[in-house]
Amino acid sequence: MTPCDLAPAYIRSIAPYQPGKPISELARELGLEETSIIKLASNENPLGVSPKAQVAIRAAVDGLALYPDGNGFELKHALSRHLNVSMDQLVLGNGSNDVLELAARAFLSPSNSAVYAQHAFAVYPLVVQAMGAKGIEVPAHHFAHDLDAMLRAVRADTRMVFVANPNNPTGTYAPAHEMERFIAALPPQVLIVLDEAYNEYLRPDHRADSMSWLKKYNNLLITRTFSKVYGLAGLRVGYAVGAPGVADLMNRVRQPFNVNSISLTAAAAALDDHEFVRKSHELNLAGMEQLTAGLAQLNLEIIPSYGNFLTFKVRDAAGVFNSLLKSGVIVRPLGGYAMPNWLRVTVGLESENARFLMKLKQAIGG
Ligand code: PMP
Repeated sequence: MTPCDLAPAYIRSIAPYQPGKPISELARELGLEETSIIKLASNENPLGVSPKAQVAIRAAVDGLALYPDGNGFELKHALSRHLNVSMDQLVLGNGSNDVLELAARAFLSPSNSAVYAQHAFAVYPLVVQAMGAKGIEVPAHHFAHDLDAMLRAVRADTRMVFVANPNNPTGTYAPAHEMERFIAALPPQVLIVLDEAYNEYLRPDHRADSMSWLKKYNNLLITRTFSKVYGLAGLRVGYAVGAPGVADLMNRVRQPFNVNSISLTAAAAALDDHEFVRKSHELNLAGMEQLTAGLAQLNLEIIPSYGNFLTFKVRDAAGVFNSLLKSGVIVRPLGGYAMPNWLRVTVGLESENARFLMKLKQAIGG
């Protein structure tokens, strides 16, 4: 008998999250130079770290002997102005994965269930299962969340519903009117987690004013991240915005210093770097066109995407994935998302997208 044998069955049966392959790992495995490898596997920002954040990071080093501000006053202050919400509506996290988990810890117990969509972001089933709650996966409709079916799936014991908009890895997006109708139709005791990790990549005419919904719906929690358009994936900063009571419960289960001081100050600086966000957004639109056209030329089926990545179908996904790896291009296989014939590529720099397309052409024998 070991402690592992007595761990709860719902913990022992968790399938570990599979992250994108790190550049250093591939370099070690294949004996390649790290600089010869491009990683288009984790939806990171190809422009790197915002220049304003870089300055803030250097300055923050001097204060590292001290604990961070456990309440994250400066970042919350900056966010409250940026989003037009009050500071007591905010919860900061070590990445938005952390706030997703805090929400599950605050609102789920083993006697509850939570609803999410097939092919939705993998962390939802993980955090639900870690609480011993029942996960209800609702079949997708053409790879997108089927919001009506998700509504019908809500049971008396359901306490949370997760929606990624846009969704990763499918890149699908529900427009504002559909999303608001869904939120309005949910019972008031069900917390809806609206995950907007890719919100900043939406074209302004597609973007919903989701923050304004918080005034109407006390059961809405919106999550966002500094890992994508703000270029800070390695620092791990995300946040949630909800009703003050919801934020209060999440803050109670949060570790007191869950966001470190370099991350707090870098995120506040990145939020203010409008030029970097604009450049990142524009680069993504151009890169999305380049990839869409390139994949069409190769006659590959794609799922039209609203994020900073594109998912496409190939005949032998494992073979193509491995062949790309050997040529120093890391993309993401989607077997774990029940999409074994699909691969996901992150929009990179123009030269990276071109190299990916060329290597892909070779890999599929084109
Ligand atoms: N939500 C979605 C939909 C994502 O794709 C990701 C990143 N893969 C996250 C949340 C979490 O990102 P982070 O923890 O870096 O904020």
